[in-house]
Amino acid sequence: MVEEKAVDQLTLEEAKETIGPLRDQLTQWGKEYYEQDKPTVPDYVYDREYERLVELEARFPQLKTADSPTQRVGGRVTTDLPKVPHEIPMLSMGDVFSLEELLDFNTRQQADGGSDHPFEYNLELKIDGLSLSVVYENGKLVQASTRGNGVIGEDVTANVKTIKEIPQQLNEPLSLEFRGECYMPKKAFAQLNEQREEAGQPIFANPRNAAAGSLRQLDPRVTGHRQLAAFMYYVPEWRKLGVTTQAEALDRMRELGFVVNQTNRVVHSAAEIRDYIDEYTAQRDQLAYGIDGIVEKVNDLATQDELGATVKVPRWEIAYKFPPEEEATIVRDIVWTVGRTGNVTPTAVMDPVQLAGTTVSRASLHNPDYLKAKDIRLGDTVYLHKAGDIIPEISRVDLKKRPADSQPYQIPTQCPVCGSDLVHLDDEVALRCINPMCPAQLKEGLAHFASRNAMNIDGLGPKIINQLWEKKLVHDYADLYQLTDDQLLTLDKFGEKSAANLLTAIDNSRHNSLERLLFGLGIRHVGAKAGQLLAARFKSMDNLMAASQEEIASVANIGPTIGESVATYFANDQVRRLVDELKNVGVNMTYDQPEAGTETAESPWNGRRVVLTGKLVEMTRGEAKQWLEAHGANVTSSVSKKTDIVIAGDKAGSKLARANDLGITVWDEARFAQAMKEEQ
Ligand code: NAD
Repeated sequence: MVEEKAVDQLTLEEAKETIGPLRDQLTQWGKEYYEQDKPTVPDYVYDREYERLVELEARFPQLKTADSPTQRVGGRVTTDLPKVPHEIPMLSMGDVFSLEELLDFNTRQQADGGSDHPFEYNLELKIDGLSLSVVYENGKLVQASTRGNGVIGEDVTANVKTIKEIPQQLNEPLSLEFRGECYMPKKAFAQLNEQREEAGQPIFANPRNAAAGSLRQLDPRVTGHRQLAAFMYYVPEWRKLGVTTQAEALDRMRELGFVVNQTNRVVHSAAEIRDYIDEYTAQRDQLAYGIDGIVEKVNDLATQDELGATVKVPRWEIAYKFPPEEEATIVRDIVWTVGRTGNVTPTAVMDPVQLAGTTVSRASLHNPDYLKAKDIRLGDTVYLHKAGDIIPEISRVDLKKRPADSQPYQIPTQCPVCGSDLVHLDDEVALRCINPMCPAQLKEGLAHFASRNAMNIDGLGPKIINQLWEKKLVHDYADLYQLTDDQLLTLDKFGEKSAANLLTAIDNSRHNSLERLLFGLGIRHVGAKAGQLLAARFKSMDNLMAASQEEIASVANIGPTIGESVATYFANDQVRRLVDELKNVGVNMTYDQPEAGTETAESPWNGRRVVLTGKLVEMTRGEAKQWLEAHGANVTSSVSKKTDIVIAGDKAGSKLARANDLGITVWDEARFAQAMKEEQ
C-alpha cells in the first residue's frame, strides 16, 4: 500500500496521492484536539503522522500548501468567548523524539546562529497543559488569554482569576505580558473524570484536554471548581525585566509572585542533557502533574532573539518528547459494574502487562458509545497506554491480529446484577439500571446513605459496609437499624467499644430530620438542597409520597426534572416497601427544622481535605474551620499527599512549603473568600 512506504521511496505521483488525505486527517485530528478538546487518537499517533507530513513536504516542496498543519499554530477560535489579538504571536514548538535527534538539532542550531561554541541551555519540563498569556498593568492582572491560532486567542480573564497560582496583583507595579502553562493536576483530573463518568457525561481524554475544556468555559464558576493550576515560564519582552537569561527570567517571575516550576537546570554538555532527560523520564510517574517531554531553551535571551522563529516555531527552543509507553495485550473479558446512581460501566479485563511502572490488567471502557467507537472485541489484541500518565486506556485494536471468528461485542440490555432493563436517560452516553432496589446500587448507596450530609452515621465507611454486605448482614438501608452487637463483633478489627459506638451512631441517625433521609436515599437528581426544599414543603414522607409529579415540580427551585425523578422513585413498589421498613425500625419521617450543614452535599467542598495555615485577616482560623466543616470539608492539621487544598494566610511557613513540594493546590485568603461567596 502507498501509505506504508517510507517517504524516500515514494514517487511524486504516490506522494501526491498520500499527502492530501494525510493533511485532511491531521486537520481533522487538530480540530478535535484544539477546538473541541476531544482527541480521538493518542498524541504519539498524531505526532507520527505529522512527522510523515513534514518529511513529505521536505522531499516534495512543490506539494506544500499554505493551509498545511505544518504552517499553522493550534486551531480556530471556536468558543463564544471574546477574542484577543496577540501582539507578539504565541507559537508552537518543534519537537524531536530521541536524544540523538536533539543533539543533531543543537549542532544545526549552533551553525545557523553562526556560533563557534555550543550554546548554554536551560532545560525545563514540558508541562502537559495549554499555553496561557497574562497581561499586567501597574502590577494588576488586566487580561488573560489562550493561544488560539497563535495570533488571536480567547479572553479567559474571569476564568483565570479563579486560578490561585496566577496572582491578581504582582509584587512590583510592572506593565508586562507573561506566558506559561495552565494545567490540571493528575489527581484533579482523575477526580473530574470519575465524577463525569458517574454523571453519565463524556470523560476527558487526558489532563491537557481537561484543562483546556475547563479554562475555555463561559461561566468562570465552572472553571473555579475544576482545580486548575499554572506554571509560568516566559516573558516575551524580557528586557523590561532587567534579565539576560531564561533562568534569570524564571527567578524574576518567582519574585513577582508567580508559581514557577522548580525543576529547571542550566546545562552545557550533551552528558548533562542526557542526565536531565533520564532523571525526569524516571520521575515522571511520581510528579503531581503530567509532562510530555523536556523543553530545551537557549539560555541567553539576546541569542534567542537573534535566532528568531519560523512561521510556526521559535528556533531557540525545542521539545524532546518522551517515547510513548504502549504495551500489547489480549482482551479476555468485558465486565459491567453498576454504580450508586445505576450507571453501568464496562471494563476490559486483559492479560496482565507492565505499563509505566505498574501491572495493568483492567481498563475502563467508560460507556457503550466508547466501546462501539473503538470496536473492542473479546480476543482482540489491543495496545494499552496511560492517559495523562495515570489511567490505563486502550488506545487501539490491532486489527491484523483479530481472530477470524471474532464477533462485534454485544452491549447488554439487562442489568448484570438485578436483571432489569437498562436504559439511556435523556441524552446521556451512560447506560443505566433504573431499578432503585438493584442490590448493586443499594450496596454503593449505603456509603452515601451513611455519609456526613445524609444520615451522618459516624464510623460507617465503605470498608465496614463491604464487610456487612459480604456477610449478608445488610441488604438495604433498613437492615442497618437491625444490626446487633454480636453481628458487629464478627467484623474485622471490631471490639466491644467500636461496636457500641457504631450502634449508637446508627441509633442517633433515626432521629434525623426528613431532609437528610431524602438526600440519603440517593434519588436521582435529589441533592442535599433539593432534599431540604422538598422536606420543608411537604413536611412528612407520607405527604411527599402522596404528592403528584406536578405538585413536586411546582416547588420553588425544584422543577420538572426532579419532579419526575421523585415521583417515579416513590411509584416503585419496592421503594414503598423500603420506606415502610424504615418506618418500622423507627426512622423519623418528618421535617423538624432546617439544619445548618445539610445544604452542602453538592458543595464543591464536600469530602475535600483542607489545611489552614498562616494568619487570616478577614476571619479567624476557627471561623474558617467552622465554615469549611459546615460545607462538608475535612479540616486537618498536617499537609500530606491526600490534602486537596491548603489555605495559606500571612506568614505561612513549613506547611505552605510542604504543599508546594507536593504540588498541592494552595489558595490565599482572597481566593478562599471568593469561594465562600460563591457558595452563598
Ligand atoms: P506542543 O504542545 O507539543 O508544544 C508547545 C507547547 O508546549 C507550548 O505552546 C506551551 O504551551 C507548552 N509548554 C509546556 N511546558 C513548556 C515550557 N516549560 N516551556 C515552553 N513551553 C511549554 O505544541 P502544540 O502546537 O500546542 O501542540 C502540538 C501537539 O499537540 C502535538 O505534538 C500532539 O502531541 C498534540 N496534538 C494531538 C492531537 C491528537 O489528536 N491527539 C491533535 C493535535 C495535536
